Amino acid sequence: MTVIPLGVPSIRRPATPAPADGPMVDTFGRVARDLRVSLTDLCNLRCTYCMPAGGLDWLPRDQKLSSDELIRLLRIAVTRLGITSIRFTGGEPLVVPHLEDVIAATTSLSPRPEVTLTTNGIGLAQRAAGLKQAGLNRINVSLDTVDPARFAAITRRDRFADVVAGLRAAKEAGLSPVKVNAVLDPVTGLQDAVELLSFCLDNGYQLRIIEQMPLDAEHSWQRDRALSADAILAALKHHFTLSPDPVPRGSAPAQLWQVHGEAGILGRVGIIASVSHAFCSTCDRTRLTADGQVRNCLFARDETDLRVLLRTGADDAALEAAWRSAMWAKAAGHGINDPDFVQPDRPMSAIGG
Ligand code: SAM
Ligand code: SF4
Repeated sequence: MTVIPLGVPSIRRPATPAPADGPMVDTFGRVARDLRVSLTDLCNLRCTYCMPAGGLDWLPRDQKLSSDELIRLLRIAVTRLGITSIRFTGGEPLVVPHLEDVIAATTSLSPRPEVTLTTNGIGLAQRAAGLKQAGLNRINVSLDTVDPARFAAITRRDRFADVVAGLRAAKEAGLSPVKVNAVLDPVTGLQDAVELLSFCLDNGYQLRIIEQMPLDAEHSWQRDRALSADAILAALKHHFTLSPDPVPRGSAPAQLWQVHGEAGILGRVGIIASVSHAFCSTCDRTRLTADGQVRNCLFARDETDLRVLLRTGADDAALEAAWRSAMWAKAAGHGINDPDFVQPDRPMSAIGG
């Protein structure tokens, strides 16, 4: 795979407290501008690489942020911390009944952040137009195969048709470009990748294939079972003519490839090589869980509890300072490839991917 080596940053600032104003930086000089918000840990699918068949011990309702608490934190993020884009995720964000209200409140913040959503697409067919109306800018829909039987095996639910209908509705609602997120099955994944790319090119969606990461609730991830970005790219190149997209990647996690056909460029495909080609040096993300914990990395072992601060009367300045110091402590990299790597306690579904 031709990749620009990004890796992890190595130059660290001297040990001082987090700056009290300006952009939200860490000690390696990275600036957090992109906020990922998990709205709930609940989900209506049970993807094998994410959740156990029997579900999880869900967060008690009183531990989850209320809408008012959440919107207050989002306002602080946008007006005091320099956050310019917010992605709502989960768990499954479409199981949150007031999602449209949260999006509308977020898009009315000033300066207006870009607002996006990552969803499994169940129920999207009925809600895509309303989400667009609430101000949603773009959407990523997860789909790991276009074979309905394999979809049912991977997600443990027979809902393939709902996801396809949701994708179509998102496109019709103008939530463009609609992106499809895929995590590949270790056995059938290379075939799925080829079929998914054909499906996405035919329908005008942009495929992004994500290397499977050690974030499953059952801690069963095995490096030698997960398909690598190099293997995925080789399989795609066997069937399609690909060339690196010349647009600078910036802080985007996906390495983009143009797909060529007789009529010119047919579309693009992204590969997110989180494990095999880490891009921690350009990371611009900060995360907020449904129970009000700030995480400075998907793989962080520590969290900062904003919910307790909120509920004990902290003012905006105190919440801002706590968020800044959480980000200041961000590690150089996720450490997946280090011999002493320890998977975080929270699974992906409770962090927000
Ligand atoms: N339920 C929504 C969905 O599936 O799109 C949003 C939450 S889900 C945790 C967000 C993204 O994380 C999805 O694209 C999913 O495929 C991905 N994901 C889940 N577990 C993963 C893992 N172990 N490694 C890599 N990606 C994972
Ligand atoms: Fe649910 Fe998304 Fe996890 Fe699948 S990946 S179980 S849809 S949270």
